[in-house]
Amino acid sequence: MEWIDTHSHLYDGTFQEDMDQVIQDCKDAGLSRIYLPNVDLESLDALHALSEKDPGLFFPMMGLHPTSVKADWKTVLAEIKEQLYARPEYYVAVGEIGTDLYWDKTFEREMEICFREQAAWAADLNKPIIIHSRDSLDWNIGIVEELKSKYPNLTGIFHCFNGTEEQALRIQKLGFLIGIGGVVTFKNAGVAEALTNVPLDIMVMETDAPYLAPVPYRGKRNHSMYIPLIAQKLAEVKDCSLNEIARITTKNALTLFGT
Ligand SMILES: [Zn+2]
Repeated sequence: MEWIDTHSHLYDGTFQEDMDQVIQDCKDAGLSRIYLPNVDLESLDALHALSEKDPGLFFPMMGLHPTSVKADWKTVLAEIKEQLYARPEYYVAVGEIGTDLYWDKTFEREMEICFREQAAWAADLNKPIIIHSRDSLDWNIGIVEELKSKYPNLTGIFHCFNGTEEQALRIQKLGFLIGIGGVVTFKNAGVAEALTNVPLDIMVMETDAPYLAPVPYRGKRNHSMYIPLIAQKLAEVKDCSLNEIARITTKNALTLFGT
């Protein structure tokens, strides 16, 4: 079985010590590609170093994360844009971008400005966007619905999907995909139930490592090699084989990012 992790921060400091083993474990688990979202200017060096360590396995993306939108957002955003436009063939997507109302609402307005601006770059360069939502999924879907009329080629992933069936179907209508991660294994999160009637055609796998480890590793360091564990739960929810999950989600990811 071939797996793709569409969202992993494996360049994070928590993987520095045992990186060679981490990469080996990913390959042993059947991971053929791992997509790395950027967060801010501080994460750039580590993102680039890991992407260059194994270019066949790692695919870097460029963006400013909503929780990193602070008072200096204008200069930071300009630097992120410079990075992206200097090497548009190197970065496979714009992300992660979006909004987050969970941690801090101080820069709520600026988050939205940054989200819209980065989505415009993605449309300009014909690249997918990776959307982060926290307590803000409806808001983000609304923004994308509006952007889509301006940029019909805009596409991407609503990462770490934890919404309702209705929200998933709105996302499907936009031609976007949803990222299925460890949250689907959490009891009482409601994600598994919400996905019962949502077609596999709009799903891709992700871990968001080192965060959001699936059961039974919940609370520990997450790892891209746990993708099959998350997929096992999805196979139960969709009442199909693990093979089927691997085949469809891998195809969906390759179609989105291009081969
Ligand atoms: Zn992330």
